[in-house]
Amino acid sequence: MSAARIPFLSLRPGEEAADVRAAIERVVAGGWYVLGPEVDAFETEFAAAASAGFAIGAGTGTDAIALILRGLDIGAGDEVIVPPITAAYTALAVMMAGARPVFADVDPVRLTLDPDAAAAAITPRTRAILPVHLYGQAASMTPILAVAARHNLAVVEDCCQAHLATSEGRPVGTIGVAGAFSFYPTKNLGAMGDGGAVVTNDRALAERVRRLRNGGQTDRYHHVEAGVNSRLDEIQAAVLRARLPRLARWTGQRRALAARYRVAIEPRAAATPLPECDAGHVYHLFVLRSAARAELQRELAADGIETLVHYPVPVSRQPAFREARPATCPTAERACSEVLSVPLYPALPGESVDRVARSINRIATTASLED
Ligand SMILES: *Cc1c(COP(=O)(O)O)cnc(C)c1O
Repeated sequence: MSAARIPFLSLRPGEEAADVRAAIERVVAGGWYVLGPEVDAFETEFAAAASAGFAIGAGTGTDAIALILRGLDIGAGDEVIVPPITAAYTALAVMMAGARPVFADVDPVRLTLDPDAAAAAITPRTRAILPVHLYGQAASMTPILAVAARHNLAVVEDCCQAHLATSEGRPVGTIGVAGAFSFYPTKNLGAMGDGGAVVTNDRALAERVRRLRNGGQTDRYHHVEAGVNSRLDEIQAAVLRARLPRLARWTGQRRALAARYRVAIEPRAAATPLPECDAGHVYHLFVLRSAARAELQRELAADGIETLVHYPVPVSRQPAFREARPATCPTAERACSEVLSVPLYPALPGESVDRVARSINRIATTASLED
């Protein structure tokens, strides 16, 4: 048996390749490379796509989170509640702003921030709750907003895995005070380098973030506060503009492939897809849980199927966060030993999904024969 390898994802431009090339050429010919007409146009177009009043380009998604926190005057001496299952950058962004990340455990079903755990983690120093819309699915925003309202805290959304996702019908990034997006190449909307954006409906916050990302300047060479250098460049903005009009269709393709996985993976299989709790899920990743993850990953690899683990270690367990005196998060610990992400991207053929599912089903049969 020598079936073709199924890669975890593919970053080469597909149907949009000609538009991407034309966009890059346009910038090269235009002779303006940082914060210019492409970034201006992309900010307008991305704000519309995200149903937000304002979008502000940034250098990365990490910077976008830190810029929001700084824009809210959250920094030294302040605490921000974050979930332990996320890219470590969520918590690093809190530290970049000068604040302390405080980890609260996840909900055992959707693996996003548990509102009760968040409430229990609040101290007099807490200023914000930072839920992550994990794998493309929104966190439980209604109870999180209720907790935040009771304690007068800001809710800042990490939307880096959730472009176009909704939570009970509401676009992510517009539910709290602001949302941070990443355009790292692997994200649902990816650039050909780093990029990020802040979205918000708060005009004053938008203006502050716009100033902070560009050294804290109001007018050129007039720095009213110590900002940072975190600007989206013109080539990345042009690439993103070529891709943005296709994002809704690509999201539909991700959803259709996810639905196909759900049908094709048998209920008796030793791996179970993470449930879809909100129809606004945009399937940045398709994640399974299995008590036999190592075996499953090995067997899939032997069948030429590439998988990844998001994430093998809770952020609260990473040595980098020792200083944050992290609490233990038993639900996250367990989930991190069970999750496995299988190939999913818009151009993935449906037959590949079937082949991955067949492998998963077969491994399950073998496993159950053994015990
Ligand atoms: C990718 C990602 C980030 C960081 O985005 P960068 O653009 O790589 O800085 C933050 N949080 C989550 C959940 C992410 O997936």
